[in-house]
Amino acid sequence: MIDLHCHILPGIDDGAKDLSESIKMAQKAVEQGIHTIVATPHHLNNRYENPKQEIIDRVIDLNKALLEQKIDINVLPGQETRIYGEMVEGVEAGEILALDGTQYVLVEFSSSHVPRYTEKLFYDLQMKGLVPVIVHPERNQELIERPDLLYRYVKNGALTQVTAASICGDFGKKIKNFTLQLIEANLTHFIASDAHNTGNRTFKMREAFDFIQAKYGNDMVYLFEENAQLVIEGNHVYKEVPERVKKKKFLGIF
Ligand code: FE
Repeated sequence: MIDLHCHILPGIDDGAKDLSESIKMAQKAVEQGIHTIVATPHHLNNRYENPKQEIIDRVIDLNKALLEQKIDINVLPGQETRIYGEMVEGVEAGEILALDGTQYVLVEFSSSHVPRYTEKLFYDLQMKGLVPVIVHPERNQELIERPDLLYRYVKNGALTQVTAASICGDFGKKIKNFTLQLIEANLTHFIASDAHNTGNRTFKMREAFDFIQAKYGNDMVYLFEENAQLVIEGNHVYKEVPERVKKKKFLGIF
């Protein structure tokens, strides 16, 4: 299994505190059946600043440490980029680190809202040859209330990644249900861990895929697994035609 979103690099964001915690996370990932992790520290937000080259250097160091510890996992460089108005300029200046140097860029919104300029920015990013991958849309308040926004972004070429723990219900029933609605409406393309540690924000990939298999069958499992593989190869991913999220009827009274 490949994990496209993980805060495994030590000491640079709210993920692994130090190398020993990174090693513990890698051991946990192996137990889950993960063989490749894209390290995606927060790029820029009010709390962190992680330049591209520093991330690349730290990934090299972590791979060396994992080799020494004989932990069979490959870490690739990436970044979780908080959306900002000058993101295209950031791309032009070479500051944005796509997933292992492919065309896929993880884009994070704040947990409460979605900027008005998002649609234009996504268009501009795609004109630069990049594909925005919206991370955990199921945890964004505005998208929960206005899922048509997400439909528009996906229809216009953006991809999305839901978090494994959301599928497992770790963020509550409402977020779990919305995650499943996104899957059913073809509005998401990847499942990743967004793991920050081995405690309250751990991987949950095995558990999420077991749930997907039981509810939707093997085809859905293969689709998500293959899409993660296609991303790190820099290939096009599988996309079904997106649909609008259906408003759930309550007890048939409406
Ligand atoms: Fe994250």
